[in-house]
Amino acid sequence: MRCVSTRGTESGSLSDAIATGLARDGGLFLPESLPRVEVQGATLVDRAVSLLQPLFEGDALAPQLRAICTGAFSFPAPTRWLSPDTGLLELFHGPTAAFKDFGARFLAEAMARMPRAKETTVLVATSGDTGAAVAAAFHQRPGFRVVILYPDGRVSQRQAHQLGAFGDNVRAFRVAGAFDDCQRLVKEAFSSPLRDQHALVSANSISLGRLLPQMAYYAHAALEARAAGRAPISFVVPTGNLGNAVACLMARAMGGPIAHVVLATNANRVLPDFLSTGAYAARPSVATLANAMDVGAPSNVERLRALFPEVAKAVRADWVDDATIRSRITATFEAFGEPICPHTACGVEVLARLRAKGERGDFVVAATAHPAKFETIVEPLIGRPVPAPPSLAELLARPSHAEAMPATFAGLAAALGR
Ligand SMILES: *Cc1c(COP(=O)(O)O)cnc(C)c1O
Repeated sequence: MRCVSTRGTESGSLSDAIATGLARDGGLFLPESLPRVEVQGATLVDRAVSLLQPLFEGDALAPQLRAICTGAFSFPAPTRWLSPDTGLLELFHGPTAAFKDFGARFLAEAMARMPRAKETTVLVATSGDTGAAVAAAFHQRPGFRVVILYPDGRVSQRQAHQLGAFGDNVRAFRVAGAFDDCQRLVKEAFSSPLRDQHALVSANSISLGRLLPQMAYYAHAALEARAAGRAPISFVVPTGNLGNAVACLMARAMGGPIAHVVLATNANRVLPDFLSTGAYAARPSVATLANAMDVGAPSNVERLRALFPEVAKAVRADWVDDATIRSRITATFEAFGEPICPHTACGVEVLARLRAKGERGDFVVAATAHPAKFETIVEPLIGRPVPAPPSLAELLARPSHAEAMPATFAGLAAALGR
């Protein structure tokens, strides 16, 4: 299928869109239509292949779709029902314990199957989770190296350790600046001669290669629920750049048995305000406990508006402050014995408010990260340790090394040349 930019002046094959990242007209790529699919199969991989097949039709990667999905979805996405009508979709069983593993691994599996002339550099700015997921996905892949920029002192200790623990073809740079500086440097690099010189590719959250695979676990969870005799379930999706949530809406648009989709943000409330006023206004981000959602200008808003011109009919949204994130983590542990991460807590809180207003039906909250990644927040609240899952524990046990980098273009050029 062809892909078109949200700004309408650029189109290309799906492979092109995955390889390019941001369209040259500044827009974001979307498939030109979303066909309805009767998803076949019983496993996550089979369902992913069945759902994505029509989008890959005619593309050079089409014959490899099953291999790409098999490589990418090598860990499960189970729904854990906490009560008869409320579940958590556990998206944290991948190597870096957050949902971004799904998209990053799919992107890596797809890119590894595209023709490339020389060694490719995946350049990524991260505020925490993205960098680790991308590093894990490309680690030790021949023909690729990964350069990670993160703001020195502004990611959690475990996140920093994780970023520096890969080694081999992965280099981590701690930048003397904020996340916005890291992102600005990456953008500058892409519009400079460094792009060709180092064959730079991007792996940020606007990449279609990260968005599309995220549809698969929503379809899978919805079909598992249907197979268990449930009416179409609804999802609450903790949201920052809106990638995970747009994927859920796209899965519904393609026929997934999904009733409602509700966004949950932290105090960065641009999206709830947009939906309640109809006026979209980006704002500077503020730091919260759910730091992977500290986004003041969600990049996928452009996709949301292109896909659903009547946005408020497609989706609802609410926001949660830090004090309530804390109390919801505690309350969820007390009620269900379940430790949840601060991002997931936003979703669980938003659902609790809907229930208080009488909302019925089966709801599943996307659990976007393992609570052990945010142990300094979660452990004091629940009064007990949260053991790291094996893959995370393994990374944390490795030595870790990051190189210092000034927040300047010259600094990045030097880092890329090292
Ligand atoms: C990235 C991230 C989010 C936000 O996802 P978007 O696709 O940017 O909306 C939420 N929770 C966690 C743990 C994340 O890493």
